[in-house]
Amino acid sequence: MSNDGAADKLETATLAEAVRGGDRRALARAITLVESAKAAHQDESEALLAALLPHSGKSLRLGITGVPGVGKSSFIERFGQHVIAAGHRVAVLAVDPSSKLSGGSILGDKTRMEDLARHPAAFIRPSPTGGTLGGVARRTREAMLVCEAAGFDVIVVETVGVGQSETTVADMVDLFLLLLLPSGGDELQGLKRGIVELADLVAVNKADGELAEAASRTAAEYRAALHLLRPGAETPVLLCSAKTGQGIAEIWQAAEAAREALAASGVLGHKRAHQARAWMWSQVHDTLEARLKADPQVAAQLPALERAVMAGELAPATAARRLLQAFLGPRKD
Ligand code: GDP
Repeated sequence: MSNDGAADKLETATLAEAVRGGDRRALARAITLVESAKAAHQDESEALLAALLPHSGKSLRLGITGVPGVGKSSFIERFGQHVIAAGHRVAVLAVDPSSKLSGGSILGDKTRMEDLARHPAAFIRPSPTGGTLGGVARRTREAMLVCEAAGFDVIVVETVGVGQSETTVADMVDLFLLLLLPSGGDELQGLKRGIVELADLVAVNKADGELAEAASRTAAEYRAALHLLRPGAETPVLLCSAKTGQGIAEIWQAAEAAREALAASGVLGHKRAHQARAWMWSQVHDTLEARLKADPQVAAQLPALERAVMAGELAPATAARRLLQAFLGPRKD
């Protein structure tokens, strides 16, 4: 696509070197490049990722979720500093597919994690904006690889505890931490059961002051619930306070222990291999769907077919076959 392919290649190699050398401006530029939706950037982005891939993968990838207000940013601010004090470098990324709709994304708010953001051993990147959940997640996943190549050995991927994004984030991390609020009731906090089942670690935040007792109760309830949901899994349920810092060290310890157990059993390698394959396919699906929708033959039929399917006048399978025929031509087999 570009006439000076050789020059692009050289520039990509230089950028990759700078990223690996820990140059923060190069890191930000590299992430902007892999996040770019512009077709013209695709070759360059792929070349960069190819150059960085052999140097990625050496981190602990930790997903963190919880409802808005549970204290995710307060927690990551504390947790990140603790992990840095233990000798690590921490990158914080986010998957927030709503960030386009809400205008000012909760996860993109730059005033969050102020102290952590200033630390030279930390790198914080708000969620990519726009596009489908799959698209946002892909760009975050690629940013994660870039951060790993830049020497960040703990990657935190934050997402909001509503909707589908947890499953998507669980598919890109080694471990998933669910943050909960202390609650008096015995309901599973309006969270979908599936999210609780995804968690490798659970922590009840705000276990301080007047909330301490409710937090202990909530933890006990979740221990009992998880015991039934995942017998034998022994998901740790811990208490913490992002405000006082209490319990943060224990959560890091639990995360490290869980990661070591995964690596030692061979499950980690297996998990990552399957994740990589799943990401390949999700990209194939996304690209095919986008091409299909952009096809003029398909576009001409799509509204009427969708309407007919929604009205129950046409079987979804029949409509799907017609769309595929419009896109691919009649089947030859
Ligand atoms: P997020 O929406 O999940 O990112 O939550 P925030 O980190 O923005 O926190 C929401 C509110 O809870 C803020 O007012 C925080 O000060 C408060 N908060 C966060 N962690 C704690 C905690 O451990 N204890 C108490 N008491 N308040 C907390």
